[in-house]
Amino acid sequence: MPAIALITVMALAIAAPLGLGWAFGGPVRPWRDELAGGLAMAGTAALLSEFLLSGRFRMISGRIGIDRTMRWHQLLARVLTVGLLVHPFLYTLPDASQFVRPGDPTRAGMLGIGAVMLATGALAWLGLGVLTITAIARDALPWRYEAWRLGHGLGAALVAGLGLAHALTGGRYSALPAVAASWAVLAGLAGASLASTYLIRPLLLARRPWRVAAVQPAAERCWEVVLEPLGHEGLRFRAGQFAWLRLDRPALSRREHPFSIASAPGGDGSLSFLVKQAGDFTNDIGALRPGARAFVDGPHGHLTIDGRREPGVCLIGGGVGVAPLLSILRAARARRDPRPFLLLYGNRHQGQVLAGAELDAMAQEIDLTTEHVLQEPPSGWSGARGMVDRALVAQRCAGAAREGWVFVLCGPPPMMREVRGGLAALGVPSRRILEERFTYD
Ligand SMILES: Cc1cc2nc3c(=O)[nH]c(=O)nc-3n(C[C@H](O)[C@H](O)[C@H](O)COP(=O)(O)OP(=O)(O)OC[C@H]3O[C@@H](n4cnc5c(N)ncnc54)[C@H](O)[C@@H]3O)c2cc1C
Repeated sequence: MPAIALITVMALAIAAPLGLGWAFGGPVRPWRDELAGGLAMAGTAALLSEFLLSGRFRMISGRIGIDRTMRWHQLLARVLTVGLLVHPFLYTLPDASQFVRPGDPTRAGMLGIGAVMLATGALAWLGLGVLTITAIARDALPWRYEAWRLGHGLGAALVAGLGLAHALTGGRYSALPAVAASWAVLAGLAGASLASTYLIRPLLLARRPWRVAAVQPAAERCWEVVLEPLGHEGLRFRAGQFAWLRLDRPALSRREHPFSIASAPGGDGSLSFLVKQAGDFTNDIGALRPGARAFVDGPHGHLTIDGRREPGVCLIGGGVGVAPLLSILRAARARRDPRPFLLLYGNRHQGQVLAGAELDAMAQEIDLTTEHVLQEPPSGWSGARGMVDRALVAQRCAGAAREGWVFVLCGPPPMMREVRGGLAALGVPSRRILEERFTYD
């Protein structure tokens, strides 16, 4: 799904209850009440639509990229949180039981304040605040990622349920059948999205098990994990994509982690991953035994040059961020891609370089120039020193930028920011930059 189609679908979903309320609603209330009601309806609809963004749908992330999808999710969450938290304070608050407004003798424009409406509203309001704060401050919290993610998902479902109950018991527009029907559709889609991600897909994956074929050191604190399909033909993917792995866990386990596929599509069907030790799960990866069961949810992601016709490809990676770039190069080697490839590959020191010998050998098979950039180079190092930053990009990529190459970036966030800035300064348009970050919240 292209970005513009997703934006249109989301905008329609968010506007649907509001539009129906406007079309079928009763007498117009004072502007503050209308604004409050509108914010509440759009915010609740946005909250329900968020489940689609975080639902890991290939149709969405395959074109737009999982990190951009998640950034939209976060941005939308912040906007809807502000709208929903502010809305109760905007009402002029006459209770229908006490007041009759001039021009509204039927009290159709009044709020129906009842115990359920108040309780659900107050709980949803508090829950939403907690949900958003714990998401923004996640890195500072002492919780394991999996615990946070489960809490975030369940919390979001609870807040959405309370918000809906609040709207249906207290909202004037939500009492209209057309608006109530639109809530039912949005709630159904959100529920289906949750069921698909956490139940249906894992159950389908259980029928396509994998086996850990090898686990071997690949560089300092980095391991290569090779998986082979058990009784099925494996995964069809495009070079540069990634998958969620459950290693030595049941298919329904919550302990799953995203890793880029470092091997090229095709071959014997096995998949290779490069896993950097980064926390409780990855620190134990070396203890994973060959023969263990694995489940592969994928392919996901859009970091791929398949179908791109640019005259050259510049790959810029840092650390284990080279994994998807290796897949792209391996695929280029397999199909004897005649285009020039430039790989700028940053690491702190030489012991962290992944697939160094293979990259050297590849230069004999395809038109590949690899430039290693080391922050702590060994004595006698004649290559580039320091970080992959704007200055280096300006130096090494000016020709590629002029000639209309495509740029593929994957590395630590500070490096990505620098490279993006450098490419923008060279006038490279966004459509020629593909990027993926290894953080997913
Ligand atoms: C699209 C993508 C591709 C990636 N490819 C690679 C790769 O090829 N090689 C590699 O070494 N790393 C890769 N990563 C990063 C890798 O997923 C994390 O390093 C790993 O999940 C850390 O888990 P942990 O329990 O060891 O560390 P923790 O300390 O638990 O987590 C460290 C950070 O990793 C992220 N993370 C942890 N668990 C998950 C999860 N279940 N789902 C999503 N994010 C999580 C969170 O941002 C967290 O703050 C990729 C990440 C993404 C999003």
